Amino acid sequence: MNKLLFKQFIAQTSDFPILLEISHAKGSYIYTTKNERYLDFISGIAVSSLGHRHPKVIKAIHDQIDKHLHVMVYGEFVQKPQVEFAELLLSNLPDRYEQIYLVNSGTEANEGALKLAKKFTGRSKFVAFRNSYHGDTHGSLSVTGRDVYRDPYLPLLPDVHFADFNSEMVFDLIDDKTAAVIMEPIQGEGGIIPSEKNWLKRIREKCVETGTILIFDEIQSGFGRTGKFFAFEYYEVEPDILCVAKAMGGGMPIGGFISSTKIFQSFKYDPPLNHVTTFGGHPVSCAAAHANLKELLSGDYMQRASIIEDKVKRKLRGKGIKEVRGKGAMLGLELENKQLTQFMVEYCFEKKILLGWTLHSDTLVRLAPPLIIKDEELDLAIETILQGIDHFYRK
Ligand code: PMP
Repeated sequence: MNKLLFKQFIAQTSDFPILLEISHAKGSYIYTTKNERYLDFISGIAVSSLGHRHPKVIKAIHDQIDKHLHVMVYGEFVQKPQVEFAELLLSNLPDRYEQIYLVNSGTEANEGALKLAKKFTGRSKFVAFRNSYHGDTHGSLSVTGRDVYRDPYLPLLPDVHFADFNSEMVFDLIDDKTAAVIMEPIQGEGGIIPSEKNWLKRIREKCVETGTILIFDEIQSGFGRTGKFFAFEYYEVEPDILCVAKAMGGGMPIGGFISSTKIFQSFKYDPPLNHVTTFGGHPVSCAAAHANLKELLSGDYMQRASIIEDKVKRKLRGKGIKEVRGKGAMLGLELENKQLTQFMVEYCFEKKILLGWTLHSDTLVRLAPPLIIKDEELDLAIETILQGIDHFYRK
């Protein structure tokens, strides 16, 4: 019944929704209305890193809803949850990151970053990458590198130039007319593709040389998912603007873009109030984000991400598996072909393990378990994946 109503009243984005009817979720599990329990190996696409409904996040939400919900548009009133969260976040980032602009989602963070780069540099050219994904609003879509998703919406932002990821062509594209280079240090939807360290360092240098802003979209790779607080730490490359969302709110909607006070000045003048939002930095989301961050920084979650990486890379080998790549618990399993991929994901689903796909690839299985996943749960998931592959070849 609910499924029919879902199909009738909720705008659909494909003819193949997963259609699990959710009752509740806790820790690494999602429970259906039939009281079936699914091991969540995608974390709502890299969101519930500390598991579903972490008790400290839930308590912070309760405490905040007893005080106030929305009271004013962004940037006017002093709201404790916003300030506390921002202070903790920024004090755990390198010095160049002095302020955060809070929004509601990943794509809004990128939209804001693109506008900020334009306003600060007075330029309008962007350099982006093939197979990138930055979100589905017009600005973010303009710098997303997949024609199938772009073509129906053309014309998008003009003066966006795409380079292949990890290729030399980017260096010819960045010049003194470029407002910003926007990139994921580890491409997510493009198939979990880490960038090469030296290449990234050279992009940083070219940006400095030409006065170009470097934007990292760490919406998927941030907040401990890769085994570091942010993936840029692996590369020793600090972007000028860092975009964040997803796992930031511990399950609540929130995003942000982070930069220096100097760069953010561009939003204050000519004219004042040139980038505003009603709900950005919602107090309940900020309270959740604050509790989530305190917990992330005080526990051994990031070490767990590296343990997950190690185990998955060691054990997922054999026939049908081309490669396991990625960092920490942001992993991609590249299989031999589309049929095997589909079969294996369905097999795991029947065994009540939720695996994911990425938007741009049909041979890549996303592995993004919550960082709290227990060893035996991880073993079970790996075992089931291997069984699924085995069954495919025995069919
Ligand atoms: N950037 C990246 C790297 C993402 O993975 C996503 C979401 N998959 C987004 C941006 C868009 O985030 P949101 O869906 O919150 O708008």
